Amino acid sequence: MSTPDAPERFDAIVVGAGFAGLYMLHRLREEGLSVQLLEAGDGVGGTWHWNRYPGARVDVESMSYSYSFSPQLQQEWSWTENYAARDELKAYADHVAERFGLGSHIRLGTRIVGARYDEDAATWTVTTEAGDQLITTFLVTAVGALSTTNRPMIPGLAEFGGTVLHTSRWPAEDVDLTGKRVGVIGTGSTGIQLIPVVARKAARLTVFQRTANFSLPIRNEPMDPEFEREWKAHYDEHRAAARLTSGGSNTTIINMFSALDVSPQERERIYEQSWRAGGASVLRSFQDIMTSREANDTAADFVRRKIREIVHDPVVAERLCPKDHPIGSKRICMDNGYFETYNRDNVELVDLRAEPIVAGVAEGLRTERAVYPLDLLILATGFDAVTGPLREMGIVGRDGVALADKWADGPLAYLGLATAGFPNLLTLTGPGSPAVLANGFTSIEQHVGLAMDVINQARERGARQVEVTSRAEIEWMEHVAEAADRTLYPQAKSWYLGSNIPGRPRVFMLYAGGAGNFRRRCEDVVAAGFTGFEFG
Ligand code: NAP
Repeated sequence: MSTPDAPERFDAIVVGAGFAGLYMLHRLREEGLSVQLLEAGDGVGGTWHWNRYPGARVDVESMSYSYSFSPQLQQEWSWTENYAARDELKAYADHVAERFGLGSHIRLGTRIVGARYDEDAATWTVTTEAGDQLITTFLVTAVGALSTTNRPMIPGLAEFGGTVLHTSRWPAEDVDLTGKRVGVIGTGSTGIQLIPVVARKAARLTVFQRTANFSLPIRNEPMDPEFEREWKAHYDEHRAAARLTSGGSNTTIINMFSALDVSPQERERIYEQSWRAGGASVLRSFQDIMTSREANDTAADFVRRKIREIVHDPVVAERLCPKDHPIGSKRICMDNGYFETYNRDNVELVDLRAEPIVAGVAEGLRTERAVYPLDLLILATGFDAVTGPLREMGIVGRDGVALADKWADGPLAYLGLATAGFPNLLTLTGPGSPAVLANGFTSIEQHVGLAMDVINQARERGARQVEVTSRAEIEWMEHVAEAADRTLYPQAKSWYLGSNIPGRPRVFMLYAGGAGNFRRRCEDVVAAGFTGFEFG
């Protein structure tokens, strides 16, 4: 390790060893650049390294949720289930790192606490938590949209005599839930996956729900070998099709007509079919569910009827019925028996709208109505999404301007990849790109490709620095806002808008215009000679 007065130098530093960082590292090495990847965690896999909570599983189909860049890799790897569980995804990340010889270029346990641009040298100086400094021409962040934890401020929580765990910082060793009184705060995708598993193991489970959430049955199955064979025989066609869709996946709208164009009986039949098919099929039943509130209401009503059918206690069922946002406007959750869990004798649902949490106390949590005794409190409270990890890295660009200050009123970035005043900084799946609004792998591979195009272009032109113009990023973010406004997304308070974090400006942070459209726009930018980028 270098000393601060003799920092190591690289053509590129990649931050984060999730699937974006691993692929970026691979591409940079292929191009012959000297590169180092810095990762805060003690293993590769990003999201799938950190999120080890019980029940963690992806809700995009395994055959689509994987890299497409290597035909050999996609032929040799086999998924055991239609929706891969966390351990298998983590094993896939480990395999990729090993297969492509990435390990020797990855420094684990290395958190970045500062990155400062040196205008004269046209380089970035990166400082690690241990105080080491490294110098790089290109700084490429691959820090994910959902990696900075959101921990609620609960007064007196330090007084609590039990254990507090956040789902995305779950310990590597087994957490024994047997015989425990467990509390879970949060009913987003994470809570909804975790709750049925915890309920089966714990003596008692108390779920603290602030907002009821829509969830659809995932209906996961073991991988059918025939399906896998067919898929692998036509992998290229499947990938090509996925890249052009809005969700970057191989699932498309089931009926290309409005939910309002059919009779209520026919609509019910179609929804029922989708519910049985599983995954997000209900949302894809008609073409206007995500754009027309009236059409959306028909899907939301259907799911509310299902909740009332499943949950025996009508009071609990009503508490679980979401009523304050359109279905799909918060990231749709997918579950393995979530609503059924509330029929168990050892499970209780606390409505935090009726009885907000007042404080942590020695024996558990106190709400306005009662004290709930607990041994373990699980925070499934989500993330400071999209901009959180970039803001906390201490990035300082031209003229000493901090990225966190520049983005105080909301992120400004061009194509999600670069922001004016921060030359040679490339933010993979950053704000204004589709990122996790689409299949993560499709977003990642496309964005890494764009980043490589920009880097190669700078090298071909002999440019020391590349930067985007203010005008390009302002126009792009206006387009990002327009794309969101054409959907129902802005009608919910969600992490997409930063509204889960007190004090964050309410700005829709991802590109809702579709992964396929985004790809085409990026291709146009490159074909037109990198419009919006300045090479100096
Ligand atoms: P989330 O969707 O932001 O949900 C957080 C939950 O915690 C919400 O129910 C929220 O309530 C609650 N909460 C937050 N602060 C609270 C407070 N102070 N008091 C009480 N409740 C509070 O986070 P997540 O469930 O971790 O999911 C985040 C994203 O990760 C998902 O949308 C998805 O994109 C991804 N994810 C995917 C999978 C998968 O592939 N299957 C699994 C997990 C996560 P409010 O709704 O009232 O804010």
